[in-house]
Amino acid sequence: MPLAHPFDDDKLKEECGIFGVVGVADAANFVALGLHALQHRGQEAGGIVVHDAEHGFNSARRMGYVRDNFTSAELLQTLPGNIGIGHVRYSTAGNKGQTAIRDVQPFFGEFSMGGAAIAHNGNLTNAAALRRDLIDRGAIFQSSSDSECIIHLMARSMGRNIPDRMEEALRKAEGAFSVVAMTRTKLMGVRDPLGVRPLVLGKIGDGWALSSETCALDIIGAEFVREIEPGEMVVISAKDGVQSHFPFRRQEPRFCIFEQVYFSRPDSILSGRSVYETRRQIGVELAREAPVDADLVCPVPDSGTPAAIGFSHESGIPYGMGIIRNQYMGRTFIEPTDAIRNMGVRLKLNVNRALIAGKRIILVDDSVVRGTTTRKIKDMLLDAGAAEVHFRIASPPTAWPCFYGVDTPQREKLIAATMTEDEMRDHLGVDSLRFISLDGLYRAAGHAEGRNNACPQFCDACFSGEYPIKPTDMIAKGFELKS
Ligand code: SF4
Repeated sequence: MPLAHPFDDDKLKEECGIFGVVGVADAANFVALGLHALQHRGQEAGGIVVHDAEHGFNSARRMGYVRDNFTSAELLQTLPGNIGIGHVRYSTAGNKGQTAIRDVQPFFGEFSMGGAAIAHNGNLTNAAALRRDLIDRGAIFQSSSDSECIIHLMARSMGRNIPDRMEEALRKAEGAFSVVAMTRTKLMGVRDPLGVRPLVLGKIGDGWALSSETCALDIIGAEFVREIEPGEMVVISAKDGVQSHFPFRRQEPRFCIFEQVYFSRPDSILSGRSVYETRRQIGVELAREAPVDADLVCPVPDSGTPAAIGFSHESGIPYGMGIIRNQYMGRTFIEPTDAIRNMGVRLKLNVNRALIAGKRIILVDDSVVRGTTTRKIKDMLLDAGAAEVHFRIASPPTAWPCFYGVDTPQREKLIAATMTEDEMRDHLGVDSLRFISLDGLYRAAGHAEGRNNACPQFCDACFSGEYPIKPTDMIAKGFELKS
């Protein structure tokens, strides 16, 4: 089980990663590799389900990293078949931060026409209401996960086959969902009508792959074919190839803009654009919007790096690695004592003293959530002799929680929910603090005209408070939407 780290408290947690293949020998190996490439999307647990004609469905679900669980030949031999799906998880519903093995996906159901397994990335905003209704009608839930509702809805569907049942189930679901699912012979992929979470299609030899991100296609040598479109369902078999249809009412897409800033890997392609290039362009926009006289631009590694490169390029201020990340933190400390825990961010990041001493530093970070890490990094730089510390943030202030598959603290814990930019600057004790504007972020993401306020091109609810899908369950619990 990977360690929780103090640094992690001050980042939004990636949601989940999903992957599936059909028409390849030893599918489990490909799924394990794909999940390994998607590990940044969830580190608490992972699971794989496969099928072959002789052994039927088989599965393995484990706590911890893919590399620690799904690389042994012994385990992979128990997962035979040429079709399989997998999931890596950071819990966004159910027992947050304390995944129980029963919550680990993929989930499996046996229907009259055969078995099916599903893996879900996102969060159903009406899951509590669905769950109550399903339990009232006799469903017995195995997990605390919102995603299990999909299996129970499928069980109650009158659809003639499993794809029909999945389609009917998802019509009742509200919220964000990218789903990969499988029957004995078919791989299925679905994106919610707004396409909040990503899902892409790849081709590998005579087979096919579905993945949260293109970086996982690269690792197995698959060719990126295209994105699954918002509201699209694909049913794929080795025999018939890819069959596509659009079962939901068409709506304007609202892809998660935070995927561009932070969640996705920089070597992935999103909406036809390189994530790295979008992040570099965010740095360019930031340098134009919030210039400052300084000697050195440094990233907060790793996700601030492309934006820092863009900032440096646009401003003409040299770029340098003023903070070095310890790549192996998290695996070496078995039982951190309080003394070690109190070292906080120093366990993960160290200042490159020789580079920063006496200099005015611009630090570029991807986001500020609670502000605790920002403050500690500033202290480390000043201790090491920096003359000034200016923060430039590659996302607008995160002032609202996400209900679509990203773990955010409660609103009152978000520093931007209670303070203005100037108040945050004073609270954090930095020489200056500026965030990219929403328009600047949209420009960097490829919309030269900026945000279309009448019909925004992305979901940006955690910045704007404008939720494209009503968070029904949260409203029932007392959450107040922006007036
Ligand atoms: S609220 Fe933020 S993190 Fe959540 S889907 Fe929307 S943009 Fe992404």
